[in-house]
Amino acid sequence: MSDLSRPEGPKIIAVANQKGGVGKTTTSINLAAALVELGKRVLLVDLDPQGNASTGLGVENDERDYTTYELLLEDVDLDEVVQGTDIDGLFIVPATVDLSSADIELISNEKRSFLLHDALRQTAMDAFAFDYILIDCPPSLNLLTVNAMIAAHSVLVPLQSEFFALEGLSQLMLTIREVRQSGNKDLRIEGVVLTMYDRRNNLSQQVESDARSNLGDLVFQTVIPRNVRVSEAPSFAMPVLSYDTTSKGASAYRSLAKELINNNTI
Ligand code: ADP
Ligand code: MG
Repeated sequence: MSDLSRPEGPKIIAVANQKGGVGKTTTSINLAAALVELGKRVLLVDLDPQGNASTGLGVENDERDYTTYELLLEDVDLDEVVQGTDIDGLFIVPATVDLSSADIELISNEKRSFLLHDALRQTAMDAFAFDYILIDCPPSLNLLTVNAMIAAHSVLVPLQSEFFALEGLSQLMLTIREVRQSGNKDLRIEGVVLTMYDRRNNLSQQVESDARSNLGDLVFQTVIPRNVRVSEAPSFAMPVLSYDTTSKGASAYRSLAKELINNNTI
């Protein structure tokens, strides 16, 4: 384990944007892999019923007996829910479609917004000695995403470099403000990362300059380029860092991981 490990426990980051297809899952998988390359121990919590992060890391459906659903709604031992992956130092709590009913099942639960918060703070978690926990959120601002934001120290927002990209951000920021008022007053914005960026495309440049002028330092210096190797990697059940280690996508996620580690938000 690295000497930079956090004595106060893992830093928990929700990867969120209510838009689908903006790069949440891709960023969760590859940022996790890049942090592991830098010597960190990382847990990826798949909080999307689509289970794309689980598939992308090679966890087959029949290996998903214990999932985020059980972590939230049943009293299952943490050791059963946290699985190793092919990558040393990278762990996952997988998800299945079962999680799609959680939103409704949780409504009558008094602690409904705090279930993930409490689950990730069980003392059994200490033995894993994670440095980071990344939560791959569903494409919605539902109770699952609220659970992630209540559990997290910060929110990392992937922003696809396309038209209307900034439009959904005000709603996301509103949810973050509500979460601060309703149980996680210290929730930070870790940063906004531009994804699927194409330098030759004026629109990408426009989105970048709008984002930087509106959000300033909140926007990571690193931008993630549109890169076919990034989109191919999940079908080989690996992060792009393993699939094509010298690709532009892999380099970008390495650079994002370094920026994140140097980000001095708690
Ligand atoms: P979300 O989790 O927000 O729904 P995904 O991470 O699943 O988004 O990405 C949506 C699609 O875009 C996927 O098919 C993914 O492979 C592709 N994609 C994401 N990032 C890149 C990139 N940098 N270059 C090329 N394709 C990408
Ligand atoms: Mg996703």
